[in-house]
Amino acid sequence: MSLAARRYVGRFAPSPTGLLHAGSLAAALASWLDARAHAGRWLVRIEDLDRPRCIPGAAEQILRQLADCGLQPDAPPLWQSGRDGAYAEALARLRLAGWAYPCGCSRRDVALVQPSTRQRFGELIYPGTCRDGLNGKAPRAMRLRTEREGSAVIVDWFDRRLGPQRQNLATEVGDFVLQRADKLWAYQLAVVVDDAEQQISDVVRGEDLSDNTARQIHLQRLLGLPQPRHLHTALVLGTDGHKLSKQNQAQALDTQDPLAALTAAARALDLPAIEANTTPDWLGAATKAWADRWLIASQAGAMA
Ligand code: GLU
Repeated sequence: MSLAARRYVGRFAPSPTGLLHAGSLAAALASWLDARAHAGRWLVRIEDLDRPRCIPGAAEQILRQLADCGLQPDAPPLWQSGRDGAYAEALARLRLAGWAYPCGCSRRDVALVQPSTRQRFGELIYPGTCRDGLNGKAPRAMRLRTEREGSAVIVDWFDRRLGPQRQNLATEVGDFVLQRADKLWAYQLAVVVDDAEQQISDVVRGEDLSDNTARQIHLQRLLGLPQPRHLHTALVLGTDGHKLSKQNQAQALDTQDPLAALTAAARALDLPAIEANTTPDWLGAATKAWADRWLIASQAGAMA
């Protein structure tokens, strides 16, 4: 089915490792507004994969914070902790096709094999040591090839805000993990399997996640899953100019005053000031402002 013919389904996919903060509310609002502006559906997925890092009760509180702001999903949320079977099946298919393989290397092994290997975000790029066999090592993680028969996987994709993007997965990322040594599923595999399960047509999320997109498209192609459209929004910065995140103690959001929280999120998304006295009125006006900004912009882009 062509993308234009697909019904718009958007999603917000929080990890319950903390509560909603100003940055994650902006991501939630952007995906909600884009769905409403397209007269589409909006779903929530609780990304509770990294069980040791999840905070008990955080997911329920995030859902309450969203509801306080009038952001109600159109179906019950999907919880990744209940999806082991689907991820295992996808991994089995990738293994059978020769794309996924077991890797016996520890971080130390990677550093020893190739001390001068390139780094990316402070991590060594995996040099592909176990691609053609474990050489007697015990399997630890499962990885996905980013190069086959000497040719690198290069992914070209389009972002509605950032424009055309290209990533050479072999040189810029390296064979990446699908299942960790501790058996936890990697974000890349789970996102792709679940975006397909929820029939997501449009991924709208913060720009900090845009670097993952090429890996996710590679997986979608290998698994024969539809590729959603993408819009990565500008990041919400703290007063110190750094990205707000749970890691740097972004303050949990007070949604007792939803209009104040929404107004701050809209400012972060660079929407014009919205005058309204109730949350539904505010959301209605914001949807119009969003449509003026992003729907007309993308139609103009399509015509150019
Ligand atoms: N769970 C991810 C996060 O909270 C978002 C995943 C996504 O939107 O693709 O950063």
